[in-house]
Amino acid sequence: MSSYVSVSPLAGAIAAGRVPRVAVVGAGLAGSTCARRLAQAGCAVALFDKSRGVGGRMATRRARWIDADGAVHHAAFDHGTPAFSARSAAFQAFVDEAAGEGVLARWEPVMAPGSHRNLDGLALWVGTPDMPALCRHVAAGLALTTSHAVDRLVREADGRWRLWAQAEPLGDDAFDAVVLAMPPAQAAALLAPHREDWARQARAVPMQPCWTLMAAEGGPAPDWDAAWPQRGPLAWVVRNAAKPGRAAPDDGLNRWVVHATASWSQTFLESAPDVVQPLLQDALAQVLGRTPRWAHATVHRWRYALAPRSESASPCWWDDALGLGACGDFFTGAGVEGAWLSGRALAGVMAPGAADAAAA
Ligand SMILES: Cc1cc2nc3c(=O)[nH]c(=O)nc-3n(C[C@H](O)[C@H](O)[C@H](O)COP(=O)(O)OP(=O)(O)OC[C@H]3O[C@@H](n4cnc5c(N)ncnc54)[C@H](O)[C@@H]3O)c2cc1C
Repeated sequence: MSSYVSVSPLAGAIAAGRVPRVAVVGAGLAGSTCARRLAQAGCAVALFDKSRGVGGRMATRRARWIDADGAVHHAAFDHGTPAFSARSAAFQAFVDEAAGEGVLARWEPVMAPGSHRNLDGLALWVGTPDMPALCRHVAAGLALTTSHAVDRLVREADGRWRLWAQAEPLGDDAFDAVVLAMPPAQAAALLAPHREDWARQARAVPMQPCWTLMAAEGGPAPDWDAAWPQRGPLAWVVRNAAKPGRAAPDDGLNRWVVHATASWSQTFLESAPDVVQPLLQDALAQVLGRTPRWAHATVHRWRYALAPRSESASPCWWDDALGLGACGDFFTGAGVEGAWLSGRALAGVMAPGAADAAAA
């Protein structure tokens, strides 16, 4: 990723007593963090997301089903990031503060025998009571528009931006600056008319996919909480209720979230869900070493799950003349922490006061 960072005019506007209007598109951790810090620095920020809520890939899906006896069952599956860790002192301080606010908790899973991953002694963290809790906390109080996918950025004659969705302007507001905080392929589509060079770089980022199984089954619970199998199609197997803050309904069912490896997911990327689901159910049965009595199962395909590690020269993009920026995990590839660092960096470049802003 080439470096393209210059001094922002927004800081000048703030210093002159004018309130710059900024649209942040994407309310995952990168966008929420950037938006919060810009608001703290004095910008009027509007946050947009195509989903029904914030969180992005820090996601929890709720399910409800009725069994053959007419009993209603509920489940919550953390089907995006299962957990994350903190390496940098800055992110650790943010994590500690969020834990103090009750929206994150340390998770110390009992690992299945043979689980292979080495965490370098780092702690695992999860949102509580669900994964989007962290982004809800960071974005609390910001103007938020959900369920609208921005499909066009229009720069008007006066240099201000309007967001478009489904061939219409999205609201009446014009913005001094726009931030894109989404996976690179999605950002590329919006960037292309304005910064084709950025769009080209974004399109070239080889994001890794992930097929995820969410399943409930009756059978004895194992004496472990999570597994990192050494072989086969699975990367993560998590008993969702084993995470802190998740109440498990007392219906005798285990609720599992199962992430396939990136290579397996790539192989089956274009396969139909009804092809993938039984394969992942079989793989979970193998890990459990028994035949589950399935009560519920569904799969989700993350086309852009994980960004590759990158020695990117810049943690974000900012074009001062256009008032256009981008942030997200793909700048560094360091997962949740990388998303936070990128969102924070972009806010700091756009409005230097944001660099010192407290909290998120
Ligand atoms: C299955 C899985 C496992 C993972 N495991 C780990 C792990 O173990 N450790 C770790 O650190 N990280 C892990 N990650 C990665 C981590 O979740 C991401 O790095 C991080 O959440 C990215 O945050 P972000 O804000 O950059 O992007 P996102 O969270 O993707 O947020 C982007 C947001 O933009 C929105 N959006 C996109 N296009 C538009 C549009 N046109 N208009 C409006 N809104 C739009 C999306 O709805 C989304 O909410 C995992 C991810 C997945 C999916």
